[in-house]
Amino acid sequence: MTYTSLDVHDILREGFDRSPMFNGRIKSLGPRYCPSIEDKINRFADKERHQLFIEPEGWNTVEVYVNGFSTSLPEDIQFKALRSVEGFEKVKFFRPGYAIEYDYFPPTQLKHTLETKLIEGLYFAGQINGTTGYEEAASQGLMAGINAHLKINEKEPMILKRDEAYIGVLIDDLITKGTEEPYRMFTSRAEYRTLLRQDNADNRLTPKSFQIGLASQERMRRMEEKFSKSDAMVSFFKETSLTTAEANPILQEKESAPIIQSDKMFKIFSRPQLNLDDFLKFDKVKQYAEENNLDREILEQAEIQVKYSGYIEKERNNADKLTRLEELKIPEDFDYNKIKSMSIEAKQKLNKIRPATISQASRISGVSPSDISVLLIYMGR
Ligand SMILES: Cc1cc2nc3c(=O)[nH]c(=O)nc-3n(C[C@H](O)[C@H](O)[C@H](O)COP(=O)(O)OP(=O)(O)OC[C@H]3O[C@@H](n4cnc5c(N)ncnc54)[C@H](O)[C@@H]3O)c2cc1C
Repeated sequence: MTYTSLDVHDILREGFDRSPMFNGRIKSLGPRYCPSIEDKINRFADKERHQLFIEPEGWNTVEVYVNGFSTSLPEDIQFKALRSVEGFEKVKFFRPGYAIEYDYFPPTQLKHTLETKLIEGLYFAGQINGTTGYEEAASQGLMAGINAHLKINEKEPMILKRDEAYIGVLIDDLITKGTEEPYRMFTSRAEYRTLLRQDNADNRLTPKSFQIGLASQERMRRMEEKFSKSDAMVSFFKETSLTTAEANPILQEKESAPIIQSDKMFKIFSRPQLNLDDFLKFDKVKQYAEENNLDREILEQAEIQVKYSGYIEKERNNADKLTRLEELKIPEDFDYNKIKSMSIEAKQKLNKIRPATISQASRISGVSPSDISVLLIYMGR
């Protein structure tokens, strides 16, 4: 790892007028989430240095990839700047960096299946839809492929909803909001982040996959077993109480306040100080797990369900509140810059577009559900 310096930045600036990104030859916007080094020193002018990760390209080569230094500046400037980086004084250069520009089709011209509205049977996936990223491209390719197959076999399309999968959020964002700059998927773009977890991806998606013949019967069976057993365990936690004598020694050990009368396990286990290993310290729990032959994955799933239930409820309430307040008007002269906890991207877009209502604001690409929540708080709601 190394860093740029003010000297390196000065050298880079010498080449700005010859950079296609700055002199107007390339007119499109670069990806916000992986800015070039010239973009960084321009946009974050107050920073004295930027981190560079030096990644070996392979076992049998001396080539390294200078992660963090992507650039479209003239070759001579790149070389001079690189040699001014600490550790790079004698660096040699195989290939200079370069900029590429590519076109896309506004994704608002697509259906939820990724089929184009204008040409039946033509599906678009990936960068052609204005996204950037491997997973973004791969997930759209999967969905377009599935839907093309279903269509020629005259079957119902497969559409994932926003509360079912990040793929659902991605595709819905693209086709309803469109995008003005390379779109990248973030967890913050989803309203139901606590529902869209890794540990329940199998629960959310295996049945759908099984239905169209992708997941095997065995995979489906294993998933069903995992969740029926973990659900049963959660019910056991809800039905079974711990006495003060049982609970308090362990609560004390975990520096959690003692209980003053018997209480349900579910309530006690939802305390942040306790985790799965603590649950298993109780004989009743240990015995239940052994009798039912529960493996770690099932136990962890039960733990997660206990721990998350409060948050999931809170999130549902938040989403309901958002729907209720959709038509709330935003004052014309509202100063978005004063909101500290809002993302820079959201501030930029809201300042530029100046939406009239909350619902309009929520449809702007780059303004996430959490940005809207923060905005509502500032508006006193
Ligand atoms: C230098 C660089 C670094 C990147 N780093 C990352 C990273 O670290 N992480 C990340 O997530 N993303 C990264 N990306 C972005 C990511 O690579 C792309 O967004 C993603 O690969 C796009 O996939 P795609 O399938 O949509 O398009 P592509 O992978 O570009 O596939 C399009 C294919 O169509 C073919 N094609 C074009 N025209 C025709 C034609 N007329 N007939 C037949 N075939 C044609 C092309 O040859 C190509 O194979 C990076 C991109 C670049 C350029």
